[in-house]
Amino acid sequence: MGTPKILLFAGAHPDDETFGIGGTLAQYAAAGVKVYYVCATRGEAGSVVPEGTKGYATVGDMRWAELRCAAQVLGLADVIHLGYRDSGMSGSKDNKHLDSLAMAPPDEVAGRIVEIIRELKPDVVITHDAGGGYGHPDHIATHNATVKAFYSAADPKQYPEAGPMFQPHKLYFGVRPHGFMKLMVRLMPLFGQNPRRFGCNKDIDLTRMIDVEYPFHAVIRLTKRSLEIRDKAAACHASQGGGRIRPGPFRILRILERLRGQRDCFIRAYPPPTRRREKDLFEGIL
Ligand SMILES: [Zn+2]
Repeated sequence: MGTPKILLFAGAHPDDETFGIGGTLAQYAAAGVKVYYVCATRGEAGSVVPEGTKGYATVGDMRWAELRCAAQVLGLADVIHLGYRDSGMSGSKDNKHLDSLAMAPPDEVAGRIVEIIRELKPDVVITHDAGGGYGHPDHIATHNATVKAFYSAADPKQYPEAGPMFQPHKLYFGVRPHGFMKLMVRLMPLFGQNPRRFGCNKDIDLTRMIDVEYPFHAVIRLTKRSLEIRDKAAACHASQGGGRIRPGPFRILRILERLRGQRDCFIRAYPPPTRRREKDLFEGIL
């Protein structure tokens, strides 16, 4: 038995760890990998379902509690708040809030992630793709900061105050399969839904997601158990509609998730990908 492998996911909001790549995180955690989630914001700008904030003082408090619940279900070793505020969508008031991730200097955000990488020493780092999944500014900002931090952590001249240098082995971006999203966008109008205004907050333009076709360099097949854990973790995010089957687009999404559901796809940013598709993010790491 060697020392446990370490995986760090850097995401923007409470729920990105579940709705994105929750199956993969659960699967690695169950296999004995120490999985950490560094979450840039507390999701303060997300709109919540009508039941309100369930006795929490703020939306941020409630969503952080939901994240803690999901993290426990997924088997994560810990969740770390990077210290920023949810920026909402561009043009919104939240976007101009002084504590928002959108207003933070990118070098400062990267520096905080460097500190976490140097402290936790992950073998593998995962973050959002360059387009932020569906163009959410926080996803894009988190992507940019994590990429910079990944390379800076290994350079002793960068952020010397953030601890001794450390070089993780691999960097991945989680992406949704292109065919899946295309099918979703085609099906939605049949159910009277507008694919340009998807999600609880009606701020997700799915048509933007199908403009770019990403290559995948790693595909993780999820076990039935990992999918069950992901569904259970989704139920923790009740304010974001997790765990309930609602009419309309969420229902289509659930049906498609079931059809697709057994795999998560990743772009490998470092080391540069080869033609061979990986089946394990820790492949090649001793
Ligand atoms: Zn998010």
